[in-house]
Amino acid sequence: MRHLTAGQHALLEAELQLRLRQLDRSLAEHHGGLSRAEHAREVLQQDGDDAPQRDSERELDMALSDRETAELGAASQALARLREGTYGLCADCDAEIPFDRLKAEPWALRCVACETARESRDPRGAA
Ligand SMILES: [Zn+2]
Repeated sequence: MRHLTAGQHALLEAELQLRLRQLDRSLAEHHGGLSRAEHAREVLQQDGDDAPQRDSERELDMALSDRETAELGAASQALARLREGTYGLCADCDAEIPFDRLKAEPWALRCVACETARESRDPRGAA
């Protein structure tokens, strides 16, 4: 991350920590402090006339949580890379990721070219 100044570095670290806190809180709210397994069991134990609606709500809730869990993973991975000194380098090709991209997406682990290549290979797996 020689291409980043100390100030840029500090700013990105603060952004990542803020994002991690937001995701943590959001995930905790979705599950009311329960783990995913407990949450699923609780939903299954509820039955009634509005069960089909609950099913779709649960699917939405799970999909949202999956995305947030993935973002949480990427953000904590980025923070770890920040400490290791490999932050800001593309995970695939080692290219320096421009500060403008990192500012917009501090948890970005790849340069635009690699990210685009990855998305076209597996659109659903793109972070
Ligand atoms: Zn790359």
